[in-house]
Parts: sequence; structure tokens; C-alpha cells
Amino acid sequence: MLGNFVFSNPTKLYFGEDSLSYLNEELPKYGKNVQLVYGGGSIKRNGIYDKVVEILKANGKEIIEDGGVMPNPTVEKLYEGAKLAKEGNVDLILAVGGGSCCDYAKAVSISAHCKEDPWEKYYLKFEDVDTDTKIIPVGCVLTMVGTGSEMNGGAVITNHESRLKIGHVFGGNVFPKFSILNPVFTYTLPEYQMVAGFYDIMNHITEQYFSGEDDTTSDYIMEGLMRSLIHSSRIAILNPQDYEARSNIMWTATWALNTLVAMGKSTDWMVHMLGQAVGAYTDATHGMTLSAVSLPYYRHIMPYGLAKFKRFAENVWNINPAGKSDKEIAEAGLAAMEAWMKEIGVVMSIKELGVTEDMLEGLVKATLVMDGGYKVLNQDDILEIFQESMK
Ligand code: NAP
Ligand code: FE
Repeated sequence: MLGNFVFSNPTKLYFGEDSLSYLNEELPKYGKNVQLVYGGGSIKRNGIYDKVVEILKANGKEIIEDGGVMPNPTVEKLYEGAKLAKEGNVDLILAVGGGSCCDYAKAVSISAHCKEDPWEKYYLKFEDVDTDTKIIPVGCVLTMVGTGSEMNGGAVITNHESRLKIGHVFGGNVFPKFSILNPVFTYTLPEYQMVAGFYDIMNHITEQYFSGEDDTTSDYIMEGLMRSLIHSSRIAILNPQDYEARSNIMWTATWALNTLVAMGKSTDWMVHMLGQAVGAYTDATHGMTLSAVSLPYYRHIMPYGLAKFKRFAENVWNINPAGKSDKEIAEAGLAAMEAWMKEIGVVMSIKELGVTEDMLEGLVKATLVMDGGYKVLNQDDILEIFQESMK
């Protein structure tokens, strides 16, 4: 049964090869000062920076440069960006990049005029934005596909000093006001980042799918999204410039985490909690931290949610051999996922990401425990999963 819910997604999307031109429609809605957020320089190398700056200038905007957002943005960078936004009296934050830039832009938007320490307030205490805090509007031009950050309220920040990587999912007032999605902008992504993004998408779906036993429309939508992703990822691996595949994947990523498929059902998010602990210790690529812990986690919880794992095997991977037990079918589904992960080339071990045995105890402590999955993990479960992920 679907639980009661209120659904609204305020982000306006512009999708397709000509989508950047719509920036001309959006910019006049905001004041003069635009904080231009971008990463380590990929947009300067592939020409996207020049295109965006040209449009900003044509619209008479004052550009406040805020480059150097690192993958897995840090709390120090957040403080720096918030100061820049406040002192520059910024009217719009325009993120041009991947999930790191979009997440960071959202975090800056609610931190610039926040009276308290944003790390403490939003990330350690998980508090919401105060109603009297001015939220600076955010727009995104997406260049890396995976996180869904372009159409959600998520903003993940890493604190290396305290070895914590924490995501806070904010409400509709923090969602980007608009996002521009041009699949061609993702063609220059290195293969490692491209496939990390593919697995991030897959995991956003499984985090929401492997929770609850109920028959919901959301579960059927998610099965369709997974089938589309698996199909298109195989094409994109062979030809990264296949527009059909890359555009379908871009759209799947957005739907996987724009809150729609979570409506009326419970969700898990434990793989992200395990992966974020690994990220806090290693600063590894987000999607790869998820792929490296996923199978040990799902094999660990499978007995507690057998019916759903069987359904996953049948409806996502077309596995339905006669005469097999439910457990055998469920296991075959996870084996099929494992084969696909190896086929697209994601990282299958946290050792490969730089985790060493002496970190395991700290990783267990850094893992936040969620209660929406098929088993609420205790410390022994978490250690066992990390040990399995070391193989
Ligand atoms: P990312 O960290 O934004 O980008 C990864 C790398 O790809 C960067 O080195 C970046 O280089 C490069 N890159 C991006 N676009 C490129 C392009 N078109 N051509 C060449 N290189 C390009 O990756 P991400 O996976 O999208 O974001 C990861 C962050 O999002 C993590 O902190 C993760 O925890 C968070 N996350 C958020 C949500 C959410 O719901 N909001 C969900 C999952 C994860 P440059 O630095 O030069 O741009
Ligand atoms: Fe993710």
C-alpha cells in the first residue's frame, strides 16, 4: 500500500542539445550578481565555461568567480563560498559541473546568510534552514551524470578533519530553481567517472527499491528505470558518444533521485552510508565507494527481504528458472548485477580505493545507521560488510 504523501518538485528542467540557450530565459529573473561555481577546470578545457560566460555577459551579469570545487566538496570550501556569496551580495548561484558543484551550490545558498555554523547546524545537528534565513536561488548546468543533484535538495559535504561525509536532504526551497541538461556536455567525462555515475544511478534506485514488501507503482517505475539504465550503459561503454544511450542515462539519473519514486514508500540508503564512510577516509569517487560495498551489503540483507530480491531477479534481470527455490532465484539476481558491474568496470573492493585494515574500526564508527532497510545493521554487521568488501 502507498503511504500518504505530498509531492512537488519545483525544479524546472531544460533538456537536450540546445538546452544551454534557455539560460537566456532564466537569467533575467534574477539580480545582477551571479556566483559562478565550477570544479577543477574540466569546463575550461571543454569549452563549456566560455559558452556560459558569454551568456552571462550578454545578460549584463556581474560574475563572481568560485572555481576549484573539489569532488566531494569540503567544509572549508563551503565556508569560503558562503563568505563570497554574502560579501558579494549574490543574487544567483550558477553551478556548472557535476553533483559536487550542484551540492556545493545548494550548501552555499543556505549557508551564506545562516547565523550559525552551517556544518554544525545542517550536518551535525541535521537541522532545517530557519524560516528567516535568506536562501540564494541556485541554477545548474550539469556536466556529469549520476547524483540527481540537479533536481533534488541533497547536499553532501565532507569534513576531513573529523572524517565525516554527511548528506543532508533539504526541502523544496533548496532545490535548484532550474537545471540545464545537455547530454553532449557529458561526452568529455573520463570513462572512470562515467561508469561511477552509472553505478550511482543504479544504487539510488536500489536504495529505494529494496525497502518494504508492498506492491507500489514506485517499484514498477524503478524496475523500468533499472532496465533502461542497464540497456543504455552497455551501449555507452562501447560508444560513449551514442546520444541515444547517454541522453537516456541522463534522464534516468534525474528520475532515480528527484524524490518521485520514494513517494508513499519506505527507503533504505544504507549503501550510501557505508560508501560515505569510505569516502570520508579515502576521498574516493562517490559511485565507486558504493559499488565496492554494495554486493557484500545486499548479500548480507538478502535473507531478510527475500521476496523483493526474487522480484528484482525476475523483473530486472529476467531470471526465472523452473524448479529453483526463491533463494536461488534471488541469488542469481545479485549474481547478474555483479556480472553487469564487472562488465561496465566499476570498483568491486574498498581495498582498491585505498582502505587498509587499520581503518576498518573507524569506518564502522563513521557509518550512520538507517532503519528503512530489511535489517537494521549493528556494529558487527557493518564490520562484516566492510571486511567482505576488502576482498
Ligand atoms: P563530481 O565530483 O561532480 O565530478 C567528478 C569528476 O568529474 C571531477 O573531477 C570533474 O572535474 C569531472 N567532470 C565533471 N564533468 C565533466 C566533464 N563533462 N568532462 C570532464 N570531466 C568532468 O561527480 P559527481 O559524482 O557528479 O558528484 C559527486 C558528489 O555528489 C559527492 O560528494 C557525492 O557524495 C554527492 N552526491 C550527491 C547526491 C545528491 O542527491 N545530491 C547523490 C549522490 C551523491 P572538474 O572538477 O574539473 O569539474
Ligand atoms: Fe549517490
